[in-house]
Amino acid sequence: MSYIGRFAPSPTGPLHMGSLVAAVASYLQAKSHQGKWLLRIEDLDPPREIKGAADNIIRTLEQFGFEWDDEICYQSKRSELYEEILQQLNVQGHIYSCACSRTDIHATGSMTAFGVRYAGTCRAGIARGKSARSIRLMVTDTSIFFADKIQGNYQQNLHQDIGDFVVRRADGQTAYQLAVVIDDAAQGITEIVRGSDLLDSTPRQIFLQQLLDYTTPQYAHIPVIVNRQGEKLSKQTRATAIDTDSAGAALVHALCYLQQQPPRSLRHATVGEIWDWAREHWQLQHVARQRMIKA
Ligand SMILES: [Zn+2]
Repeated sequence: MSYIGRFAPSPTGPLHMGSLVAAVASYLQAKSHQGKWLLRIEDLDPPREIKGAADNIIRTLEQFGFEWDDEICYQSKRSELYEEILQQLNVQGHIYSCACSRTDIHATGSMTAFGVRYAGTCRAGIARGKSARSIRLMVTDTSIFFADKIQGNYQQNLHQDIGDFVVRRADGQTAYQLAVVIDDAAQGITEIVRGSDLLDSTPRQIFLQQLLDYTTPQYAHIPVIVNRQGEKLSKQTRATAIDTDSAGAALVHALCYLQQQPPRSLRHATVGEIWDWAREHWQLQHVARQRMIKA
């Protein structure tokens, strides 16, 4: 089977070092397997999105010399497909309407290592006088295991750790967990290289893949870059946009975060020369086997 990888940024701001590192890792992993590398814009969260950010990210990737295969996939244009799959899950009896507000969920839920576990309040039907807000997927009391290529063996029991989770949000948008699973399957993704902040949501995605009869891809979660306060670099933590005038330096910096040990001489090389070196020397097993790296 041929390799298909992907990079899937959310257009919540310009590309920062954290997302560049994920782009570089997924790109080099695909290229070292003579595979395809696809670009997907995860624009399903309009309140958090910034106008023009998607185009800005695409332009920045171009300036860095990334080359993607096929057309760019925009999640915002795929709602019909998501709705179809949601109907399928409904027919199979896997989903139900939930009337709980955020306050209800916190009041009835229990705290686990992964946040507030949904208590299953609306599983047997919505309480009289309340109306449906979101749609949830029924999970089972079984452990889901997977072997992450960087983080190692991982296990989660969705019933005990997470509870039934949202597949359509109260604002009517398809939830990330469902959209990402549908898109990865539709695009034939064979391996997902992304930030470790998504490690904990992988079992939810594997559970959905199993319900929908999709193949589960391989996973490799790279450490996320955190600031001095231990927060992931993001728009919310005011991560600075990458300076594309010094793309070469930023690329070398990204390779250092990925523990690829680029030689000193590369610091003054062109972007093309850096990519040549990186493609030839890329080793996924050199990436630090940890969840976080300090900026
Ligand atoms: Zn509920």
